[in-house]
This record gives sequence, C-alpha cells and structure tokens, in this order.
Amino acid sequence: MDNQEAKVLINDTILRLNDEIKKLEETSKPISPDNAIGRLSRMEAIGEKSVNEAALRNAKLRVTKLNQALKRVNDDEYGECLECEEEISEKRLKTIPESTLCIKCASRIEA
Ligand SMILES: [Zn+2]
Repeated sequence: MDNQEAKVLINDTILRLNDEIKKLEETSKPISPDNAIGRLSRMEAIGEKSVNEAALRNAKLRVTKLNQALKRVNDDEYGECLECEEEISEKRLKTIPESTLCIKCASRIEA
C-alpha cells in the first residue's frame, strides 16, 4: 500500500469512527431517574449505557491512534512494525489501519 492509499484508508476510518462517536454520545447521556426511557427498563438502560460507554472510549482511542498513524504516513514510517521493523502485512493494515506492530509482535506483546 502506498502513502496515498494509506491516507485514504486512515481518513475513511476516522470519518466512520467520528460518526459512530456521535451516535454513541447520544446514547450515553445520563439516564433520568424516572422511568421515561420507553421500552427499556432502568436496569437494561444502565447495562446498555455501560456497553455504549466502553464502545465510545474505544472509538475515541482508535481516532487518537489513527491520527498518530497519519503522522507516520507523513514521516514515511507507516506500515513498519515498531518492534522488529518488518513491514506490517497489508491485510492487517486494512483491518486495523492504526496497527503499529506486525502480527507476530502483536501476538507476542498484546497476548
Ligand atoms: Zn514486528
């Protein structure tokens, strides 16, 4: 993948995540103490809220990492494993454009 392709991929992913963040922020608003939530009971609403909050944190973290990935594209370092300096496979980058580790190092370090 060349730098131009990488930029398009990263920017697309950021746009998609920003959309998701907007939606998640809508659904992670505080739950009112009265039961004015419609079909969900309060307990269900609280459960759903914590799931949404976790997804929201995760989405925001990914955007941060994707912005760092854009910087690496500009520095011509994108797609290089930070551990072993091997090229990260294109398949992996297409699934996780913010990857900084190749699959081998990732399974060693993140496991
Ligand atoms: Zn590696």
